[in-house]
Amino acid sequence: MEKVALLKCDNYDLDLVEKKIREGFELLGGDGFIKSLIPYNSKLLLKPNMLSAEPRDSIVVTSPVIFEAVIRIIKDYTDNISFGDSPGFGDSKRAALKIGLMDIADKYGVKFDEFKEEIHVRLDDSLLIKSWNVSKAAYESDVLITLPRIKTHAMAHYTGAIKNQFGCVIGTSKASFHTRVPEAENFSKMLLDLNKVVNTSFAILDGIVAMQGNGPKSGTPYNLKTIVMGKSLPSVDSVGSYLIGYNNPLDIPALKEALNSGYKGVLLNDIDILGENIEKLKAVNFKKAIERKDFTFGNNFLTNTLRNLITPNPWLNKDKCISCKRCSEVCPKKPGVISMKEENGKIYPDFKLTNCIRCFCCQELCPVGAIEPKYSLAARALKFNKR
Ligand code: SF4
Ligand code: SF4
Repeated sequence: MEKVALLKCDNYDLDLVEKKIREGFELLGGDGFIKSLIPYNSKLLLKPNMLSAEPRDSIVVTSPVIFEAVIRIIKDYTDNISFGDSPGFGDSKRAALKIGLMDIADKYGVKFDEFKEEIHVRLDDSLLIKSWNVSKAAYESDVLITLPRIKTHAMAHYTGAIKNQFGCVIGTSKASFHTRVPEAENFSKMLLDLNKVVNTSFAILDGIVAMQGNGPKSGTPYNLKTIVMGKSLPSVDSVGSYLIGYNNPLDIPALKEALNSGYKGVLLNDIDILGENIEKLKAVNFKKAIERKDFTFGNNFLTNTLRNLITPNPWLNKDKCISCKRCSEVCPKKPGVISMKEENGKIYPDFKLTNCIRCFCCQELCPVGAIEPKYSLAARALKFNKR
């Protein structure tokens, strides 16, 4: 059985968070467990979620308090700690400064890696992708500890430990995966392969305040008051997704693929949950994301027509849009889906949905949350959904 530690943590008080993470390590085996995870003076990389340059208290990114608490614990095991990520848009150094991670890193002598240097790697026993270009720092670390936050996601439904390593693919190379493997099934296999490439060793999932609704960038906070820790990424995500209302982990594409591919500890019955009772920490009325559904039906015309009808589309709230054009820059299907059009003296993105692959990169990276996944009027009229 895969072991996962589940902790109740009421808020982001640094001493409290450190105490809880120490308790989690204790449940998993204490000092001996950490020593086996982090051999003496090994090269350790922390991989927080730095989706974009956000203020310290933002729920879009990993809390700097989690980051600092983890450093306080692991610095007794190695002096060779660094951190890094490649945001979906913009500069990673700016993101690290604004989120507050850089100040903390300086305080403890933790190095920053901008994830600008790539390395080419082959993964012979892949599920799908054999040839990879990933961050050299991530690949060359001896131990990679991922620090994701629990958030909703229109394409992945839930984002946590497995998906957080997508930031080890540098910059705009991420967009190419959305066009190469647009279906959730293959995208999930790609993520599982990527975690093998960078050899993610351990996950500490920040669920103290999770993001609900229009995640992973524009949702609202939910005080879930939890931390989930473990070596098995599928097990950590299975527990994390159950906490926000996914009673069946197979409703999360990455977990379904993990189970189909032979990963252990995907189903809750196969996970030894140490610490708190999971039922007591489960969210009530958590707002899930509006989720994309994948299917093929007959020929391309029928598939496209039905997809337009029964899967959500990127929908623009013109009142929020600041005409920054970022959505058109990050869309992996450019040119062809988003064009900027003028209307009443202002420019807005215009979506050609027949070419849209519903990756929701535009929604994920819009700086003001002006794009939401929404069902078409026809879908709502035909009651394919309620939103
Ligand atoms: S929708 Fe968002 S990303 Fe696109 S132009 Fe408007 S504000 Fe910028
Ligand atoms: S319009 Fe948005 S959802 Fe559609 S392909 Fe472009 S980024 Fe993806």
